[in-house]
Amino acid sequence: MDVQQARRQLEEMLAELDKSLATLSNQRPESEGHGTPGDADAGLDLADHARATALLEVAQEQRRQVLEALQRIENGTYGLCVSCGAPLPEGRLEAKPEAARCLSCQAKLEAGR
Ligand SMILES: [Zn+2]
Repeated sequence: MDVQQARRQLEEMLAELDKSLATLSNQRPESEGHGTPGDADAGLDLADHARATALLEVAQEQRRQVLEALQRIENGTYGLCVSCGAPLPEGRLEAKPEAARCLSCQAKLEAGR
């Protein structure tokens, strides 16, 4: 996988994520911090609030992974597993340009949760 192409893809993802995060943050009564759901404004019911918060967390996590992948491009370690250092299979990076780990390290990580 061409690193320049990966960088473009990651930058596009980042722009999209920033857009979603801005939209999601606007839907929340308190845009910062992890307030207790009970403090939610009357305008937004708890289910909506919880859903918006969950989406926001997913988007923030993905944004973090995209930023880390861009950082690895800067460092020249893009495409290598951050756990074992093995090169990631081409297909994995195409499907998930922000992937940080090879499949076996990712599986181990998820099993350990
Ligand atoms: Zn690995």
